Amino acid sequence: MIIIMSRDASGEEVARIEERLSAAGFGVHRSQGVERTILGAIGERSPELLSTVAAMAGVEKVVPILKPFKLASRDFKPEPTCVTVGDAVFGGAEAVLIAGPCAIEDEEQLLSTARRIKAAGAKLLRGGAFKPRTSPYSFQGLKIDGLKLSQEVAAETGLAVVTEVVSPHEVELVAEYAQMLQIGARNMQNFALLQEVGKAKIPVLLKRGMAATIEEWLMAAEYIMNEDNYQVVLCERGIRTFETATRNTLDLSAIALVKEWSHLPVIADPSHASGRRNLVLPLARAALAAGADGLMVEVHPHPETALSDGPQSLNFAEFDELMQGIEPILAVMGKHL
Ligand code: PEP
Ligand code: MN
Repeated sequence: MIIIMSRDASGEEVARIEERLSAAGFGVHRSQGVERTILGAIGERSPELLSTVAAMAGVEKVVPILKPFKLASRDFKPEPTCVTVGDAVFGGAEAVLIAGPCAIEDEEQLLSTARRIKAAGAKLLRGGAFKPRTSPYSFQGLKIDGLKLSQEVAAETGLAVVTEVVSPHEVELVAEYAQMLQIGARNMQNFALLQEVGKAKIPVLLKRGMAATIEEWLMAAEYIMNEDNYQVVLCERGIRTFETATRNTLDLSAIALVKEWSHLPVIADPSHASGRRNLVLPLARAALAAGADGLMVEVHPHPETALSDGPQSLNFAEFDELMQGIEPILAVMGKHL
């Protein structure tokens, strides 16, 4: 349930409610708005407790949350959440650009890409060190060596790094090297992993599972937030449909609907959504027009020799074109890079 405190509720009154809820075995999460405090109480539904709390001093009203996701819902937190990573702020007036190769391959590849995307206006460098490949025979990533390379390149360019973590046991390790942890589509419902990145308390980029409903996606965010890590950015990366001409189908409705249901920032990944580099710009424009707070795009100095996802990777000139091509949409949406 959600406890909406009155505008003039004192800190003591808020604390008293929190104590009462904790004593009843509820997990209590506080959302401090500009105008008022909202408390989210997570636990078994209890009509008696609901009416007891409703009668306590400083409470304006108590409402049961009907949606299964609570902390991620707009009911709990009406204002948009802003997630800061390095110089970037997701969820505000900025459209955050994340770019880089699918997989980190070598120093030259990563450093040249980082320099180029930074010059074009990207704020975060992406690059997988632990790659969740469909085939065990495909390149699995440079692992710890890749993390070290990304750390060096980040130090040299001033970009923040987002990289995927695939196992709960590696969260601590990856968090030492990256400023944001990516949960990939294939791991969206790896609940032990979600809890572990929640405990790590660093920003998380949560990709939508390829066959996950919007509700399941927000429930995955809920797992992270239930560990008191509210720094979650959602990423729509295309879902499986009957269509085979594109790798996936970019779900634009999901971007718009998630913005309505949740206060969390949402970005789009037009590279994995389409699997085709020619579609990256039009889909990027469409996603921003639907309300996306940013983009994640795969960029490689020589896509034709990339060890993974070459067909959907942009070369440097194409990335520059993308940055120019989204400008008019950003202007219409009132966003800036
Ligand atoms: C990736 O970002 O390289 C990746 C593997 O993405 P997804 O989990 O969306 O397939
Ligand atoms: Mn990829």
